Amino acid sequence: MHLARKPVIVSNRAAAHLRTGHLWVFSTDVVNGSDAPSGEIVRVVDVQHRPLGYALYSHRSRIALRWIGSTEEPIDRDFWRHRLVAALDHRRRVVTNTDAYRLVFAESDLLPSLIIDRYGDHLSLQTLTPGMEALKSLWVELLVDLIGPQAIIERNDVRVRQLEGLELQTGVLYGTPRSRQEVTMNGIRFEVDLLEGQKTGLFLDQRENYEVAKQYARGRALDCFCYCGGFALHLANRCDGVVAIDSSADALAEAKRNTNLNDLTNIEFLQANVFDVLRELVKKKERFNTIVLDPPAFAKSREAVEGAIRGYKEINLRALRLLKPSGILITCSCSYHLNEEMFLGVLASAAADAHRQVQILEKRMQARDHPVLLSMPETYYLKCIVLQVL
Ligand code: SAH
Repeated sequence: MHLARKPVIVSNRAAAHLRTGHLWVFSTDVVNGSDAPSGEIVRVVDVQHRPLGYALYSHRSRIALRWIGSTEEPIDRDFWRHRLVAALDHRRRVVTNTDAYRLVFAESDLLPSLIIDRYGDHLSLQTLTPGMEALKSLWVELLVDLIGPQAIIERNDVRVRQLEGLELQTGVLYGTPRSRQEVTMNGIRFEVDLLEGQKTGLFLDQRENYEVAKQYARGRALDCFCYCGGFALHLANRCDGVVAIDSSADALAEAKRNTNLNDLTNIEFLQANVFDVLRELVKKKERFNTIVLDPPAFAKSREAVEGAIRGYKEINLRALRLLKPSGILITCSCSYHLNEEMFLGVLASAAADAHRQVQILEKRMQARDHPVLLSMPETYYLKCIVLQVL
């Protein structure tokens, strides 16, 4: 941070927003930019030049500023260490029954745009803005000091980096990673290829929902959008048989490896489009006791919400039709733009069209290692609703 630099002046609207605890200022709310380069920590003031605090600066992004704090203390190594330790302490308190979980969830941990996942003694890091990118070597140093991992990998091959003018890259930041790393969630073993794997690993945000799904599961089960088998493997322990569907051959290959790793023999994998399969199953009057729907985000932007609602409605309507009386539907949406109220609306309208009476047994969200920052609704993205048809 260069105190000699000009502060960034933000609009009254943005200042009010920051004062409610929100952490972002959009570029359209920057009244006067700074001479600081992208990635630098800048002072932020309102139009009356009253100080608001410090933020990470990003020239290229729609989100120009990510607020760090109004603190008078210097933003140095100790400041960041303190924030990291707080995030680690929270996980120590709430994470049980797994060695794979999210150590740092960006804005929610007041570490904007920084994501750190733990897979056993391997750590996977994402620095999604120039500000966090500039601090990358500090994070490696602090993590080695605080955790002493075998290896730290960067999975900075996510598209949002491009919106920040950053390159996509993966690589080893520290140590010697194993080519495949085994972890355990709720007593179930998974293997991940952290460096070369197509995606960044497992969907850690569903860990607590897997365990809940397992508690409800019985009879004949269907896992739609199964990816590496997170839900399917949990269901298999309780069900007679599980049919697991995904369109990706790579995901299914991983899911099958994980199935073998756990000596499970009652999962049948199907490479297909879930929309087609559900239509087929309804036509054939097939019936299930337990169904999981965990699709990718259908609404990636506000503009995409209308189409997304149609997609969510279709799969939920068909799944409800496929359930036997007292059957369980565990249905998820990870689209932030479709909030919980809208999602419940979609489910109600699907139930009405399916002519089924439906109970809500649980309204759940992302696991507690992905906390929601109350002042930033953007951090509440995963809805997981457990329904029972009567
Ligand atoms: N339930 C998974 C996560 C699902 S991610 C878990 O807990 O790990 C979404 C998955 O949906 C991806 O694996 C993707 O390949 C798959 N997918 C996307 N569109 C699909 C479609 N139309 N039919 C089947 N699978 C699809």
